[in-house]
Amino acid sequence: MLFGRIIPDFPYPQKICPYCMKTLVVVNAVHWEGDPYQYKALYLDPNGECPVYDEGAKQAYARIYYSGEDAFNYFRDVLIPVQRWTQEDLYSIYK
Ligand SMILES: [Zn+2]
Repeated sequence: MLFGRIIPDFPYPQKICPYCMKTLVVVNAVHWEGDPYQYKALYLDPNGECPVYDEGAKQAYARIYYSGEDAFNYFRDVLIPVQRWTQEDLYSIYK
């Protein structure tokens, strides 16, 4: 079983945007129910000043993180839907 949500206070590793060096935000995650430490997390860069941020295309730097090789095998085909923080009606699907 999978459950798709961010676990409060879970020790997601800190990730940095390689373009603006800002800390990325975990916006969604999928965890393995029997072992929450097996997971896939989606990070987005919240920085509107980032050089790769594109307001028109509604794109920001995004990064998928897997907790390990097993997690990659479990979750690589699982899509993560995301509600963007600034556009309530816009969803993007990341894989
Ligand atoms: Zn950035």
